[in-house]
Amino acid sequence: MTQTELQSKLSKYADLAVQIGVNVQPGQILVVNAPISAAEFVHLITAKAYAIGASQVKVNWSDEFITRQQFEHAAPEVFTKAPTWYAGEVTEFAENGAAFLNVIAENPDALKGIDPERIANFQKTRGAALTKYREMQMSDKVSWSIVAIPSQPWADKVFPDVPEEERVDKLWEAIFHTVRLDREDPVAAWQEHLDTLEQKADVLNAKKYKSLHYIAPGTDLSIELPEGHIWAQGDSINAKGHSFVANMPTEEVFTAPKKTGVNGTVRSTKPLSYGGNIIDGFSITFEQGRITSVSAEQGQEALEYLISLDEGAKYLGEVALVPHNSPISDSNILYFNTLFDENASNHLAIGTAYAFCLEGGKEMNQDELIAHGLNTSVTHVDFMIGSAEMDIYGITADGTREPVFLKGNWAF
Ligand code: ZN
Ligand code: ZN
Repeated sequence: MTQTELQSKLSKYADLAVQIGVNVQPGQILVVNAPISAAEFVHLITAKAYAIGASQVKVNWSDEFITRQQFEHAAPEVFTKAPTWYAGEVTEFAENGAAFLNVIAENPDALKGIDPERIANFQKTRGAALTKYREMQMSDKVSWSIVAIPSQPWADKVFPDVPEEERVDKLWEAIFHTVRLDREDPVAAWQEHLDTLEQKADVLNAKKYKSLHYIAPGTDLSIELPEGHIWAQGDSINAKGHSFVANMPTEEVFTAPKKTGVNGTVRSTKPLSYGGNIIDGFSITFEQGRITSVSAEQGQEALEYLISLDEGAKYLGEVALVPHNSPISDSNILYFNTLFDENASNHLAIGTAYAFCLEGGKEMNQDELIAHGLNTSVTHVDFMIGSAEMDIYGITADGTREPVFLKGNWAF
């Protein structure tokens, strides 16, 4: 890719993020969270959002060096107490109808070697502080989106066998492919893609399966689905009726499991980069929805901290179907980043469920969602379980068993 090609693709990528991702409207505030390494891309985003008529673009910068320094040296109370301005700012912006764009460029090993208790405390306090914002996010009240751009440490992790100076370029090309920027008309390609996902969701919504049964090496898991569950896909509609795409890329069709209806054991198929650490080769066993044991070849401690963030972190909040032959999966690249890896694989999420995955859920409060069988938590972490060897059966209300996935791909 020449410098000119990269500039032109970057500009189109910024268009996608602003127009399809958060879909900024005239008069709307856009909040961008980004690492300083993404400054050039965020400048484009800012200019494009103002060109559409955004009333304000507020950028919150982060920096991995400073973040790591904080985890190493800051006083303990920094991790156990969230300042009121922190949630205050986000919540106020959300209440004023802002859209939220997260630009990520994470080094998967950013916090390697940091005391996992500090990381867990930080996740827990920040998660708890953001309860109100998260409720708005999980019920589609606000538009939000995540897009990624390469960083050298991330590219080093993904392409260790490529000459060092070519890695970032290679990661750009991979990302551009996953977000369909290599198509003639990326915006039109996205519309078509979202329609395809919607067709799959429509079939599942008509079936109203009572439960799903997953079978694969190391996996024998039954997941009950709550009455009134809704299969959702890529694009969502916010409280004002504007569409947005929360994840770019997105290949999944997903719903909420019944909190207490998960039984059996599931085995991960891809490493999970969580809180700056890698958790890999893990199995999780459930009884009546609750996690009773976890064992990981790598990152056991991080996984144990994750599931002890609160009671809801011991239950599932998302069931997502992604064919094994999706474009991301076909590329055979392991991204060490959930935004990409979850879209190459069937996955589940530990923690809170999306309110919009239940009929009437967007209008329900937390207690009502819980009463309808949905999980709530301070966290929501996806982990990958799909492979070419996975079969999934849907069990109908009358007990009929129908294939949904065979050998890793849609059976219909
Ligand atoms: Zn998902
Ligand atoms: Zn998720």
